[in-house]
Amino acid sequence: MRERYHLGDGIVLRRRLLPSGDAIITLLSERGKWTALARSGRSSAGLVASLSLFNDVTVQHYRRKEGDLPVITQVTLNGMLPRLSEPGLYGFAHILAELADQLTVDVSYDEPLYAYLASGLRGLCSSDDPELVTIAYAWRMVKAAGLAPAARGCPDCGSEGPLTHLDIPAGLLRCGDCGGGARLEPATAAELKSMLTGTLTQAITRGLADREAHWRVLDRFVAHHVNSLSSLSLRTRPEREAANA
Ligand SMILES: [Zn+2]
Repeated sequence: MRERYHLGDGIVLRRRLLPSGDAIITLLSERGKWTALARSGRSSAGLVASLSLFNDVTVQHYRRKEGDLPVITQVTLNGMLPRLSEPGLYGFAHILAELADQLTVDVSYDEPLYAYLASGLRGLCSSDDPELVTIAYAWRMVKAAGLAPAARGCPDCGSEGPLTHLDIPAGLLRCGDCGGGARLEPATAAELKSMLTGTLTQAITRGLADREAHWRVLDRFVAHHVNSLSSLSLRTRPEREAANA
């Protein structure tokens, strides 16, 4: 059978190196997540290296037969964010990529996760507050996948809030009168509502008073509704804590 070449693209979400030196590459594109094989070896020198994590690439690939992984033959780099390898950003980039990876198990191909991941990774490099960017984009991706709690009003009484009670298993934010679930500090609750209902710019401009509280909420919510994210342990300690350590 003749080999047919195709073009594909995406951001490198995951790389698994095989003992042979070949690598299985998982990419997220606008059409969804897909996987391909990058062979090591003289004829493909540099191929595996150019498929580094978080690179935005277009690749040429072919499939010998139906059911085989596509084999990548050429890589064109569309975008590379070298700053993402810096210690202060690497963990955050992993969190957004792992979340996008986990969320695409369940969502249809027209969800804008690729766009959020691409813009979140760029935001990490251009912002002086990458931690805030990560939390805001993480909620935006959870919302894009249809999993975020509704936050415009209390689902039980219709009150606009403040919605201070987060029922994680039910995926609901309720007012203090209706209660149920974990009680959030008023500032945390208001910031969460803003991240779930406002624009990303609003969420990022507003800032977060207690980041540890936000990480805990995000961690527990994502672990319950998506999957626990192993990369959360990679997140960089804020400087103010490092200073006290
Ligand atoms: Zn209520």
